[in-house]
Amino acid sequence: MKLIKLLFRSVKYSRKKLIIALICLTFVSVTNLIYPWLFKIMVDHLLHSNDGSPDLNITLLIVLIGGIIILSTILGYYTNILMQQLGFQLRNNIRTAYFKTLLNFPVSFFKDEAVGKLTSRATEDISMLQNVYSGILVPAYQNILFITGCLILMLMLNPFATGIVTLIILCIIPLMYYFSRKIKVSSGESQKEHALANAVMDESLTGIREVKALLLEERRIEKYKNKLIAALVNEVKSSSYQAKSTQSVFVIVSLLLLFIFYIGIYGSSSWSPGSAVAFYFYSYSLTMAFLSLGRVYSRYYHISGSTIKITETIDLNNLTDLNEVDNFYKPNIDTLKGKVEFKNVSFGYNSKKLVLNNISFSVNPGEWLLITGPSGSGKSTISSLILGFYKANNGEILIDDKNIKNVDTFTLRNNIGFVGQEAILFEGTIRENILIKNNEISEKKFYDILKISMAEKFINQLPNGADTNIAERGITLSAGQRSRIAIARALVNEPAILVLDEANSMLEGNLEAELWHNLLNQRNDKTTIIFSHHTEFIPKVYKHIQI
Ligand code: ADP
Repeated sequence: MKLIKLLFRSVKYSRKKLIIALICLTFVSVTNLIYPWLFKIMVDHLLHSNDGSPDLNITLLIVLIGGIIILSTILGYYTNILMQQLGFQLRNNIRTAYFKTLLNFPVSFFKDEAVGKLTSRATEDISMLQNVYSGILVPAYQNILFITGCLILMLMLNPFATGIVTLIILCIIPLMYYFSRKIKVSSGESQKEHALANAVMDESLTGIREVKALLLEERRIEKYKNKLIAALVNEVKSSSYQAKSTQSVFVIVSLLLLFIFYIGIYGSSSWSPGSAVAFYFYSYSLTMAFLSLGRVYSRYYHISGSTIKITETIDLNNLTDLNEVDNFYKPNIDTLKGKVEFKNVSFGYNSKKLVLNNISFSVNPGEWLLITGPSGSGKSTISSLILGFYKANNGEILIDDKNIKNVDTFTLRNNIGFVGQEAILFEGTIRENILIKNNEISEKKFYDILKISMAEKFINQLPNGADTNIAERGITLSAGQRSRIAIARALVNEPAILVLDEANSMLEGNLEAELWHNLLNQRNDKTTIIFSHHTEFIPKVYKHIQI
């Protein structure tokens, strides 16, 4: 049902193309019904050719049908392309909606969901949806049309035999349904195992240093292989059901054709020989169309499995056209003064264990607050609470004396410069990374920021300076250099609140002392909150709390 709902929603963006494609498809399907009738004409004509009847009509008919075939081929070609295009468009729309939804989820969502599973959903499951038009809609529509046409023509030829053929074919349906259910279960299982295998690979590559340091290579490969084997077992099961389904239908179809052969000879003397031949072909095509419908049905289940998984994450009502402009961010951003206050704040990631217990502090614009504490004491958790990633269980977090719950998230984050211990940089040049939040600053200001963050010197030594791509071959930035780029990025907006979460842990002593000195000069009217283990180089101007 979800898949049908999805189709209806996506049709909204491509109604015209779809209507054109369906008209072409109708023409193509009807054309395919002509051939058995042609055989009827040919056989009857051959048998009567001894009477000396003229063959002028036949020549005209052949020319006419030749024209129809050429037209049908051209239309078939365009339908094919149109339907593929619609499928690709649908896939891209859903991928974007999926990514958009994920980025809108709160940070807490990602602690339960493996990132590998989420990305494999974006690649594998969503890619399956591109076949929804060419793999489901087209053959389903074509076969239903064809079956209807065949039945009408067969009824015109012999109503009694048509009744029997229909009855036999109707007996095939429950059989095909049974096999389709089986195929659905095993292919669902194999998809699940593939997603798990992807998650293993993703995890291992993301944590490649840990994998190598802990000598986990062999065990990771083993785990990956086991998931693939589990997927293979289910794939084999699925194809065995597919083969059983096809073969049992073939047996029934062959017996059916034998029966038609029998009644063709003995059944009814009112048939012309041509009619018997045409009837034979229509019955054959009819059963083939049913068989093909069965395949469409199992494909439908396969794809709808992916749709269900995708709709667990995204709401189909949010599906938009790629060409529509997103209003992701609010245009009205307020400027904050930068006062941050925690009043008896308690917080736990789950109800069982509190990470922060009754924490209180206050820091005003122009002040520096240093928060120290052993590893695992909750320093990063405090920075996450300031950024509004989580809500406190008890107590109040105030920003400019206003409860954080009432501060618009975009305004809050736009006024905070955040640097974490591990500097995450994005694909692109150093300049693009630094100006990612605001690229409208002057060149002079850009270099001032590089100076403050102690990044100017090493950037100038790079082959293309600030325009060096961080992923360029041969460019390897040290952890300290990446940290300094991240600090520059955080300073671009001159944020009212600067949160440095172990941002100095990768810097060498001299550099660090100079960086603090620069920051002190630049941020004398703004709030700076520093979480750090080692404090020896930090100028002693701060308020200090230990957690
Ligand atoms: P610190 O920054 O002082 O080293 P953290 O704030 O990172 O400490 O972590 C405090 C505690 O919260 C630790 O016990 C850690 O395991 C736990 N923790 C951190 N992040 C999460 C999370 N996303 N989900 C569950 N527990 C977490």
